[in-house]
Amino acid sequence: MKKRLDQIHERIRRAAEACGRDVASVRLVAVSKTVAPDLVREALEAGVTILGENYVQEAGEKFKALLQYPVSWHFIGHLQSNKAKYAVRLFDLIHSVDSLKLAHELDKQAAKVDKIQQILVQVNISGEDTKSGISADETIELISEISQLKNLSIKGLMTMPPYFYQPEKVRPFFAALRELRDQIKERSIANVCMDELSMGMTGDFEVAIEEGATLVRIGTAIFGERK
Ligand SMILES: *Cc1c(COP(=O)(O)O)cnc(C)c1O
Repeated sequence: MKKRLDQIHERIRRAAEACGRDVASVRLVAVSKTVAPDLVREALEAGVTILGENYVQEAGEKFKALLQYPVSWHFIGHLQSNKAKYAVRLFDLIHSVDSLKLAHELDKQAAKVDKIQQILVQVNISGEDTKSGISADETIELISEISQLKNLSIKGLMTMPPYFYQPEKVRPFFAALRELRDQIKERSIANVCMDELSMGMTGDFEVAIEEGATLVRIGTAIFGERK
């Protein structure tokens, strides 16, 4: 585990250096969905500090098993409004907010526990029907509306581009997310920070870093193939 993680950090460092970025501006989210707590523990012992989970209930169980570790939990899956209550209790950053309805529910639940919930807005940058996320055209409007909610704080954008065997083919989608982020940043909307770009997975994280990713979500390269 330590060796795998060292190799990933080395690849992150090289990708950042190759495009003149500070390696400290890229954080690794270890995606632990479906991974048993014992294996997750090995990753934490080896230095992982952020875990990405896709299912609220599964994350809740691991959270209890791994309480002694100083880990930041991120939610990266599709979130149903009826799970918002649990999500605000568990997660430091929710990457996948893509509707005003969900945002309202998260805001309400965050208020109840006196928390400012940090979120990213998930954008369906490729426009594929099968993908979650708000369309690029509607993103600015959604962000303006969410920015009014007192218990949410927008930190940036997230995307899941289409899968290609060749990572270079994903580059235009990563670039498009960065350009959208820059457009939103220019508007200087109150209560909206656009520092984070959550993009890049096992097959394409180096390209994502070259296009500005600040959070790379890596599962398979750390934990092996999921069943
Ligand atoms: C599973 C998952 C990942 C990790 O994918 P790998 O290819 O295993 O690195 C990243 N992001 C999201 C949203 C996921 O669901």
